[in-house]
Amino acid sequence: MKLVRYGARGREKPGLLAPDGSLRDLSAHVADIGWNEISDAGQKRLRAIDPATLPKVKGKPRLGVPFTGISKIVGIGLNYRAHALEAGMPIPAEPVMFIKATTCLTGPNDGVIQPIGSSKLDYEVELAIVIGRETRHVDEARALDHVAGYCSFNDVSERAFQIERGGQWDKGKGYDSFGPLGPWLVTRDEVPDPQALRLWLELNGERVQDSSTADMIFGCAHIVSYVSRFMTLLPGDVICTGTPQGVGMGRGRYLQVGDALRLAVDGLGEQNQTILAA
Ligand code: ZN
Repeated sequence: MKLVRYGARGREKPGLLAPDGSLRDLSAHVADIGWNEISDAGQKRLRAIDPATLPKVKGKPRLGVPFTGISKIVGIGLNYRAHALEAGMPIPAEPVMFIKATTCLTGPNDGVIQPIGSSKLDYEVELAIVIGRETRHVDEARALDHVAGYCSFNDVSERAFQIERGGQWDKGKGYDSFGPLGPWLVTRDEVPDPQALRLWLELNGERVQDSSTADMIFGCAHIVSYVSRFMTLLPGDVICTGTPQGVGMGRGRYLQVGDALRLAVDGLGEQNQTILAA
């Protein structure tokens, strides 16, 4: 299933993308897409509904963050070799972890805000893992059973804040609008191999990132298992799994107000953002 939330910010309604590509309203069945709905049992209940019986949503409404109840966003850094090289950083021996503030979350096509004082605003197309159940110390072999599904994600970053202002990366990762998520939560039954997904990003129409999750240093199962040894993962928690090469930091060209971004992980839906002044 492809679960969505649509409508004005803060007043989103639950829906799903039907196999015919139409957006369908789920309001008669659930109040929202949250912990219950993304759990294995909740997915089973939703899967039993024939999408053809759901009302079609008219027009092209705004799409919001595709589910609620996100207690944390864990970022994995330098998880593609060529990206670590372009960043001038060593290939990590263990996954690099950081936290993105949940207040950075936005819908997939909401604008990205350039913060006051920003000079090195950057993009990162990524595969996001969405946790489906409470998880701690899970073995790698069973880790993907704890995943509700996957989303496209843009790990928007401010490199000067991240790298030149001292301390940890979190300063450059958490500003409002730095976490466009969606358009859909694609449930894991539709993503049999999360290590075989092409992911790409276009800046003003030029393709600048184009890679595959096959190139990750640490795969999704390893990452979920690894993170769960350091903190309890709750349903709805998001792990963004790192970006491939081609970011502005590597190309020496940072984002400017008015720039247009288009990005996707294949099968998980496309995002479109414009860079906005603070
Ligand atoms: Zn990232």
